[in-house]
Amino acid sequence: MTMPDTPAASLRLRVDTDALAANWRYLDSQSGAAATGAAVKANAYGVGVNRAVPALLAAGARHFFLAHWSEVPAILPYVESSMVSVLHGVRNAEEAAFAKETGVLPVINSVRQAALWAGSGGGPCHLMIDTGINRLGVRPGDLSDPAISALDVSIAMSHLASADEDSAQNAKQLAAFQSAAAHVEARHLSLANSAGIMLGSNYHFDLTRPGIALYGGTAHPAMAGKIAQVAYPEAAVIQIRELSPGDSVGYNALWTADKPYRAATVSIGYADGFLRMMGPGGALHHRGAQLPVLGKVSMDMIVVDVSGVEVKEGDFLSVPLDLPAVSARSGLSQYELLTVLGHRFDRS
Ligand SMILES: *Cc1c(COP(=O)(O)O)cnc(C)c1O
Repeated sequence: MTMPDTPAASLRLRVDTDALAANWRYLDSQSGAAATGAAVKANAYGVGVNRAVPALLAAGARHFFLAHWSEVPAILPYVESSMVSVLHGVRNAEEAAFAKETGVLPVINSVRQAALWAGSGGGPCHLMIDTGINRLGVRPGDLSDPAISALDVSIAMSHLASADEDSAQNAKQLAAFQSAAAHVEARHLSLANSAGIMLGSNYHFDLTRPGIALYGGTAHPAMAGKIAQVAYPEAAVIQIRELSPGDSVGYNALWTADKPYRAATVSIGYADGFLRMMGPGGALHHRGAQLPVLGKVSMDMIVVDVSGVEVKEGDFLSVPLDLPAVSARSGLSQYELLTVLGHRFDRS
């Protein structure tokens, strides 16, 4: 049979693209003379490349950073391939060939990757220099390797480990990057992520690479109040029931009614990124009313208290995702809160 159209999803992610564009413009204004790019890896931090990338392009972004080659096909309908980079670089000849075919630039991270890139025909690329995060990147001592010197480097970059903190590591990495850059022939230099932008003009170089703050994260205390929420998850009520005193809810009967309650079963669970730890003390919202979570979070469902609240089956409830606030309450990072949002959200 041919598959009929899929019915409307019971989970949706509303994306405020005006807020996203405003966040980019704020970060651009804080980036001084540097151009401002956008990290859009992990499906634009869970927000959806299809919504985020056109809005960022319209705002003025011209550099888009992905982590995996598998993320490339989703972005190319919206931007020219020369604007796109893959941070993981090239692991093998297959990835190098894919880079050549698409025109997306790899970020070369090691002498081995540099040789692999040259062996696949080479061409323009970016270069990651490790100034102390010890994750990906060429060590400054290896920059004189002939495989590195032979590269046609568009942007030489490094990544800050502690930009969200007032840490001595920031100045150390800045100094290491400045001295490393003197040994590399690159057309542009780039160091700052979201938090790094707030460390001052010394950190801006030619291009900044914000991610989390675009999507509503307060990456550095200095941006508090300046960054707007972008992602608003909403989940449908799939059943409403009346509970009598003594009725328990959910696995292991962890919550028991001590009086009559009206309870709504909602189509969101830990498979959608509403993790078990968000249950106790957590709540959904409906038109200003708080709807506390009752019992354990299931894979596909939670139950919330709608006593005295006008809610009916089919209504969509708001899942709070003010990143700084939910992060403080849950102990999850602002990054995790966004990127755990699952595949069942309608992001169209
Ligand atoms: C993810 C990433 C960014 C963006 O970082 P945020 O902290 O989200 O602003 C920038 N540069 C590199 C290399 C990254 O991996």
